[in-house]
Amino acid sequence: MQCLNDNLIMPALSRRAVLLGLCSGTWWAHAATAPSRVPILVYHRFGATAVDSMTVSTPRFQSHLAVLSELGCQVIGLHEWVAYRRGERPSLPERAVVLTADDGHRSQAEVLAPALAERGWPVTLFIYPSAISNASYAMTWDQLRQWRRQPSVMIESHTYWHPNLVRERRNMDATAFERFATTQLTRSKAVLQDKLGQEVSLLAWPFGLSDPGLQQLAHTCGYRAAFALENRSATLTDPVYAVPRHLMVDSVSAGELKRRLMAAFSAPLTSPENPT
Ligand SMILES: [Zn+2]
Repeated sequence: MQCLNDNLIMPALSRRAVLLGLCSGTWWAHAATAPSRVPILVYHRFGATAVDSMTVSTPRFQSHLAVLSELGCQVIGLHEWVAYRRGERPSLPERAVVLTADDGHRSQAEVLAPALAERGWPVTLFIYPSAISNASYAMTWDQLRQWRRQPSVMIESHTYWHPNLVRERRNMDATAFERFATTQLTRSKAVLQDKLGQEVSLLAWPFGLSDPGLQQLAHTCGYRAAFALENRSATLTDPVYAVPRHLMVDSVSAGELKRRLMAAFSAPLTSPENPT
């Protein structure tokens, strides 16, 4: 409980620490010299053409990868960023970028996996277990296990069946919602750990939606961080249980991605980035 409370007040502390340079604790001591913003990108589906709003065409995806190479981005694992955010590691590489993919769509195994393996770039997959080996669009447990054999691939939780938790809170009484949300967070973690034989400690909110109560619950359920969708780059001042990610859709051109990345790499910590 204390830990989360600290996380929720850290943004204000961090801003003051960076501005005033008065604090010497490990968490904020590195803030003044660290990369100011780290873009965390999230993909969903891939296809020859963008047949729906969440599909990125393969040529568009390849153009994104080309931008990352062209700008000299260092693709790091999400756990590295989390450790940095929590003050457990002192630094990250210059131009650090994180890649994630949500929902376990089978096109991720067909398009994302080989493209990243070719480059040796890590990725974190956020999975809701009810779909795996069940929904026609989803990967199977065998596919996930096979992909997971690569040390650069991490699999984390996206709740058990991907409900809109903010909406569900409005539809249930408080006790029923607490039980429902707790089950979504704990069952997903337990099933993924059991099926994949790895620890699961990160959470992506379905639809990117959460509230302070849910963020507290994620902490109580043993998650180290949780992720949203806000189309801006992550900073040390973002709440650790609602970290923004850039939603990658087909309309994000190579030029647009380049603009967002350069905004992240050049922006001082205390000035606003152009939100998109
Ligand atoms: Zn999702």
